[in-house]
Amino acid sequence: MENYLMYINGEWTGEELPKMEVDNPAVNEVIATVPKGGKKEAELAADAAYAAFPAWAALSAYERSAYLRTWFNLIQENENELARTMTIEQGKPLKEAIGEMRYANGFIEWFAEEGKRIYGETIPASVTNKRLFVHKQPVGVVAAITPWNFPAAMITRKVAPALAAGCTVVIKPAKQTPLTALKLAELAAKAGIPKGVINVVTGSAKEIGDVWLADERVRKLTFTGSTEVGKLLMRGSADTVKKVSLELGGHAPVIVTKNADLDKAVEGTVAAKFRNAGQTCVCSNRIYVQEEVYEAFTKKFTEKVKALRIGNGLEEGTDIGPLIDKNAVEKVEKHVKDAVEKGAKVETGGSVKEGLFFEPTVISNVTDDMLCMNEETFGPLAPVTKFAGIDEAIKRANDSIYGLAAYVFTENISEGIKIAEGLEYGIVGLNDGLPSTPQAPFGGFKQSGLGREGGRYGIEEFLEVKYISLGL
Ligand code: ADP
Repeated sequence: MENYLMYINGEWTGEELPKMEVDNPAVNEVIATVPKGGKKEAELAADAAYAAFPAWAALSAYERSAYLRTWFNLIQENENELARTMTIEQGKPLKEAIGEMRYANGFIEWFAEEGKRIYGETIPASVTNKRLFVHKQPVGVVAAITPWNFPAAMITRKVAPALAAGCTVVIKPAKQTPLTALKLAELAAKAGIPKGVINVVTGSAKEIGDVWLADERVRKLTFTGSTEVGKLLMRGSADTVKKVSLELGGHAPVIVTKNADLDKAVEGTVAAKFRNAGQTCVCSNRIYVQEEVYEAFTKKFTEKVKALRIGNGLEEGTDIGPLIDKNAVEKVEKHVKDAVEKGAKVETGGSVKEGLFFEPTVISNVTDDMLCMNEETFGPLAPVTKFAGIDEAIKRANDSIYGLAAYVFTENISEGIKIAEGLEYGIVGLNDGLPSTPQAPFGGFKQSGLGREGGRYGIEEFLEVKYISLGL
């Protein structure tokens, strides 16, 4: 077992602090400890990021890009070790962990380049003796609070654009998965990224969060996690009027029409649903299938789900790892029980296999009053229901406080576009179960969040607009 330290102002610190244990959810074993930081460490990190900001912001975009590129290269070289660490602390199958490392590193690669394209603007004046300019400048110190389901990508998706824009960051990773975050910081240090530019504080979420919220030097909060905590942080940001980006919960619908290629629809729906054992905010949670193809889809889908292999993520061939903790398992159990009581039929799965492993589950005859149709399950449960017409499907899909991702399967492209346009969702996968990618905007409508990560939209979140009016 290893005792990790946290990274503040270019130093590995926190040896004297109480320790927090990190578990491997596959075997329910403590694998490491991290320091339990609090108010003081959060302040030290903010001091360091604030002190490092002017020099980092003053570098040229090309110089910052070179640092990011070096960091990218080191992550690439250490991809296997990082992925193993991720599987051990988080549970996802190793092939998915490697996939996440590539996706995560993709943000560093992409934003290293995009930082060179932070363009300003000149605006024609209405008088001849003035010239009007728009400049973009980094917002300043950024606080990033991240969840456990994507231990690397949720960090790089925030930190890469922040650094490329010229901001410095303080990061609080989730308590379940701090090791991947600390390893990323270690490689950032190796890449020569100056001290104070990246700081990682582990410990009490509330104590650390409260310090950063109250600190007026922290100009931006970027958060991925539950809608509930997102709302708390948004309220907490009000007193210092921070810029806020929030990636919150989702409750993704899938619409499969009678014009779908059913093999494609099944494959895309399985990919969207069972990745990370159903623990992603873009996982499909409600599957609406047009009545003409309902039986055929449900049969094919169930067969494919039956073939998924549960196991320790380190074992070759594992498709479904453990859930993150006991609460997660209980939530899936509750959703299955509620659905069955209300008349759903279990097509496959339906219970805990052992420990934190829940069987990949398909239920049919689902109705809109069931919990699983109204709350995010965050587990391997796929409810299938029937619809008659397209307008009904859109209406039912939109009947949610969430608006993050949605999926549509149809080979009729006019129908597909019509449905995509009618959906109140920030991301639509049209015949695509895995739409997320570093160069495209990711984010939600409604209570799924504010702002976008990824693509050229992602860097704007870390920039202030300055208008300069020059009188000649
Ligand atoms: P999840 O359900 O994914 O665990 P949370 O919203 O609880 O989602 O957690 C996401 C991140 O927010 C984690 O890093 C967690 O420690 C942090 N967090 C939770 N509560 C607070 C809080 N009151 N203040 C600041 N951060 C918090």
